[in-house]
Amino acid sequence: MMLTIDGKTRLVGLMGWPVEHSLSPAMHNAAFAALGLDWAYVPLPVPPDRLGEAVRGLVALGFAGANVTVPHKEAVVPFLDRLTPAAQAIGAVNTILVGPGGELTGDNTDAAGFLADLRAEGVEPSGRRPLILGAGGAARAVAYALSQAGAELVAIAARNLAKAQRLADGLRAATGKAFLAARLPEDLPDLAREADLIVNATTVGMAPHQADASPWPQDVPLRPAWIIYDLVYVPAETLLLRRARAAGARGIGGLGMLVQQGAAAFRLWTGVEPPLAVMRQACEERLRDRE
Ligand code: NAP
Repeated sequence: MMLTIDGKTRLVGLMGWPVEHSLSPAMHNAAFAALGLDWAYVPLPVPPDRLGEAVRGLVALGFAGANVTVPHKEAVVPFLDRLTPAAQAIGAVNTILVGPGGELTGDNTDAAGFLADLRAEGVEPSGRRPLILGAGGAARAVAYALSQAGAELVAIAARNLAKAQRLADGLRAATGKAFLAARLPEDLPDLAREADLIVNATTVGMAPHQADASPWPQDVPLRPAWIIYDLVYVPAETLLLRRARAAGARGIGGLGMLVQQGAAAFRLWTGVEPPLAVMRQACEERLRDRE
């Protein structure tokens, strides 16, 4: 069904800089169309020095909410009225909800989206020993999600040990749980003895610039019993996932998380259960068009 915008259409959008490569407009608009909802999702390119104005503008323009992406996920926090416990602990917001009186709530659906996809893939995080590669915003959301879901000690390995340590300390302070900081790649052989769930939350493996690279060194064997989850979703099959499968391990790509974090935002804004298969198909079609 074609999307028709009229005077009653509810608006949501994506604030980022840049935003033109995002799959979210296609994903959400396909979902609105499939359910016959008079809603539209628009890209909102917001330069960093205009973020405050743009967030206030959401209320002035009657938006129902917005997603927030790079580089605004942390910078947006001071412009919001309240944060959900997840956004508070993660220190970053990817979804804003505009309340009936114009109050702005910041949430982080990356954490819930990661867990939802992991479980949709039949992987229960409780009792697992995760090893997260990277110490950026996505690593923080995943580490928080796994610890909240009952994983054993979550290890965070980054090429910048001080950054991994800051992340571990921040999450320990926010959650009261223990996190282990380590160096990537030097500490991987030791960490690999204990781990059973490896999550790539670096940008390594991402097209177009890093598609020929893997964050996991070739001289440390990947184990067949492992689950290897790569947050990168372009390409769908990263070098890490190809190596995981060649080693007999289970590899899961990041597109499912993208859909689930979008679905969680969709539920918050509309109160309606989103059509996951439609959203995934819209993303896949958009990615195929780009090839
Ligand atoms: P970010 O905040 O920029 O963090 C990127 C991390 O990757 C940093 O720790 C960075 O280390 C590390 N890194 C970059 N190049 C590296 C290299 N050559 N070797 C080792 N580490 C390297 O980005 P982000 O927002 O966390 O996103 C990370 C990835 O997750 C991106 O590919 C993003 O597309 C993906 N993601 C996917 C979803 C999904 O729904 N599937 C959601 C969110 C993010 P330094 O700090 O030392 O630079």
